Amino acid sequence: MVQERRKNGIMQSPKNNISNEVLGGLSSEIPDLEISRQPEDLTEYGRDWTRLYPPEPCGIAFPRSEEQILRLVRWANSAGVALVPSGGRTGLSGGAVAAKGELVVSMARMDRLLEFDPVDRTLTVEAGMITEKIQQLAAENGLMFPVDFAAKGSSQIGGNLATNAGGVKVLRYGLTRDWVVGMRVVTGAGELLDVNRGLIKNATGYDLRHLFIGSEGTLGIIVSVTLRLAEPPPSQSVMVVGLEGMDPLMQVFDLARESLTLSAFEFFSDLALSYVIAEGSPRAPFESRMPYYALLEFDCVGEDGEAAALAFFERCLEEGWIGDGVLSQSEAQAAELWSLREFISERISAKTPYKNDLSTRISQVPAFLHALEDVVLSRYPDFEVVWYGHIGDGNLHLNILKPDDLSLAEFKKACESVNEEIFGVVARFRGSVSAEHGVGLLKQPYLDRSRDPHEIHYLSGIKRVFDPNWILNPGKMLPEA
Ligand SMILES: Cc1cc2nc3c(=O)[nH]c(=O)nc-3n(C[C@H](O)[C@H](O)[C@H](O)COP(=O)(O)OP(=O)(O)OC[C@H]3O[C@@H](n4cnc5c(N)ncnc54)[C@H](O)[C@@H]3O)c2cc1C
Repeated sequence: MVQERRKNGIMQSPKNNISNEVLGGLSSEIPDLEISRQPEDLTEYGRDWTRLYPPEPCGIAFPRSEEQILRLVRWANSAGVALVPSGGRTGLSGGAVAAKGELVVSMARMDRLLEFDPVDRTLTVEAGMITEKIQQLAAENGLMFPVDFAAKGSSQIGGNLATNAGGVKVLRYGLTRDWVVGMRVVTGAGELLDVNRGLIKNATGYDLRHLFIGSEGTLGIIVSVTLRLAEPPPSQSVMVVGLEGMDPLMQVFDLARESLTLSAFEFFSDLALSYVIAEGSPRAPFESRMPYYALLEFDCVGEDGEAAALAFFERCLEEGWIGDGVLSQSEAQAAELWSLREFISERISAKTPYKNDLSTRISQVPAFLHALEDVVLSRYPDFEVVWYGHIGDGNLHLNILKPDDLSLAEFKKACESVNEEIFGVVARFRGSVSAEHGVGLLKQPYLDRSRDPHEIHYLSGIKRVFDPNWILNPGKMLPEA
């Protein structure tokens, strides 16, 4: 059957409209596999946070073991059914969306702890474990899992690997990629790979781990993961400062890097703050309102730590870079200050934001911000534009909010027409059209703005090796076969 789908040597897309009969075949093949076709499940599991694509999966499979996933992928190959690997569905680029009748493979039932090794300082878990649970398990053992971001209460570690998630601590601890020492994966071809076996050193050829990390469910289904854990940092303080404009942002960042041991350096605009504080909690960081804000988290131990923080603050004031600021005096206050940054995505979500997640090299950030601002001011005069981001990593989130009187289709079209200019700026600065959210469906048409044609040719070749029948997430990241 797989062979029949080859036409002139070109692989054809797997079937999208799956009949009851075909899915019935899956139930006969794997009788104990839980499959749902309940309308509420089809809606919920057929979409992610993008909300821009109407969900239309043919069903949702909830495997409970590696063995079930292996048999499911082999069945999908022979039946020609497209699969969408699905984690916590907090993705922001449509990677876990099933809009064309695909079968969703939810990892929600595979969330067990498999092993904690105190000598190796590693944690092995099933891929459906929620990110925050991993952080808790690490903390219970006096260690830390440093991948951290606002969706950690819902996202799964398999999804974090598949998107190579970043977050608010990248500046100090790097990306998800930096913490993975092993994984078990069922490839699109239906083979089980045990990759890297928890080793720190392993110089035996191509490191397949790094191909699966960031592959957005297009090469294999990650079944379990072995993670390295970190030593927790000393006591942390949080400072929020208000800036008159974007220009001083990187001067503040430079001085902070020089005088403090930073864990995070985040940025948000006053419009972002307005949405966050609209419901009364959290409150604004200080009385005066400024156009932009930076949030810094850093080591702060004893009187020396506090003196260094105050000296930094005063110098920023003297230089005229900032107009106001606040330093946390307790863990509760630090958490409240963090919520000013972390609640932004959630509080603007009712406005169906069209998200751009852009990056450039840190040294290019000021000029990049200005060039983007010019496009935004000239092309979106009537739309609300919310800026925020992990600016210490050169990563900026640009969110266009949907006006209430515009239909979803009209809004998407308007944003797509401006994308040409935005991505022109990104290409000019040799940046990325997706810093950390992945390509998915949303950025697929723009992959060539960050990857040249030779690279895309090799990416497709890699896909063919691991997923020869193109059954895993077809149309995501790479164009349809
Ligand atoms: C409020 C909010 C804040 C966020 N902040 C950040 C941030 O700071 N940094 C950041 O990087 N991201 C952020 N995100 C985006 C998102 O949370 C991350 O991309 C996260 O890693 C996705 O995990 P998930 O389990 O929800 O994956 P999903 O959305 O379910 O899936 C994402 C992709 O991974 C694939 N996938 C999922 N599980 C598997 C698996 N087991 N095997 C193979 N492929 C799989 C899917 O097919 C899809 O392509 C944020 C999202 C929200 C809603």
